[in-house]
Amino acid sequence: MDMKKVKLGKSDVVATRIALGTWAIGGSGWGGTDEDQSIETIHAAIDKGVTMIDTAPAYGQGLSEELVGKAIASSNVKREDLVLATKAGIGFTDDGNYRDTRPERLEQELQESLDRLQTEYIDVYQIHWPDTDVSIEETAKKMKEFYDQGKIRAIGVSNFSPEQMNEWQKYAPIHTSQMHLNMLQRYLIDWFEYCKQNDIATLSWGSLAHGMLTGKYSKDASFSDDDLRSKIDLFQGDRFPSMIDAVGELKDLANKKDRNLIQLSIRWLLDHQPGTDVALWGARKPSQMDGVEGADDFELSNDDLQLIDEILYKHVDDLENGSLKEYGPPLRSQLQEN
Ligand code: NAP
Repeated sequence: MDMKKVKLGKSDVVATRIALGTWAIGGSGWGGTDEDQSIETIHAAIDKGVTMIDTAPAYGQGLSEELVGKAIASSNVKREDLVLATKAGIGFTDDGNYRDTRPERLEQELQESLDRLQTEYIDVYQIHWPDTDVSIEETAKKMKEFYDQGKIRAIGVSNFSPEQMNEWQKYAPIHTSQMHLNMLQRYLIDWFEYCKQNDIATLSWGSLAHGMLTGKYSKDASFSDDDLRSKIDLFQGDRFPSMIDAVGELKDLANKKDRNLIQLSIRWLLDHQPGTDVALWGARKPSQMDGVEGADDFELSNDDLQLIDEILYKHVDDLENGSLKEYGPPLRSQLQEN
């Protein structure tokens, strides 16, 4: 099936507007990995016409990348018909991850990612988290070197503020920027606006609010200690039941349109302003890719978008509040302090 596509900023990479996210496939923070099921999930996405797959070495200490590599090698799709996005700049130890974008580390990481993904080039190579222990100039120049050598087709950043992106662009282009956004968590909306104004393609992560926007949770949902949802604000405290009420009403709205809540949520990302160019849909079971086509073949009108906001703000008045702090790994210097 041909899905709608977008050119990524000033690069010549063209990707589907809905991409598969493979954080959960790495298992860490998501209660483990089922390898066969993970590979089937990637095949399901490809079979449905999704061309872009986002992964990272940090997802299961290389496991997610390895499974993406295996899935592509065992699929019928040609490498050049896929857009592989991975990341760099996170070190990992058994005690946890930390930011590390030193140029020598990036050099080593790129080779390791190419090996795990069984490929000769990366389409979109992203710095996973800004690392203030290293100058942006050094990191950006190293990424530009990879780009000039043809090892990567587009330069990406992730979780960078507009100020950090401004500094980066003194030394290297930015083709894509990956940031947190979904209709319940809008605290970075200004950063999306900045990218739109600067011709930087945006990729939204957490598009389904880590599963809340599937509508499958009730007010008494509980999560195991090794599931990140047991720690994330969105799933805690008094706001959680209000969110569940809002999500219930949105589900009804989606059903009235003969769609489901996931499709409505993905469309919100793609259709509202400033919107995102690509919505990453995280999945780890093949059945979770059901309905991708139904998210691609309709659009929300301005009236629909307004109705969604009326429903949401009736239940939750602080959709613009939130913080990247609960997601980002520490700096290397902070690890050394502890
Ligand atoms: P998400 O897309 O908000 O939610 C994904 C989760 O929703 C799935 O793992 C699954 O969870 C559930 N789900 C998905 N489809 C479903 C379906 N059809 N039916 C029922 N449940 C379904 O979450 P995300 O993985 O956090 O974000 C998406 C991607 O963004 C990631 O995979 C990763 O590639 C990227 N990301 C990047 C960063 C960054 O710092 N750059 C940070 C986070 C994520 P269960 O199976 O557990 O129910």
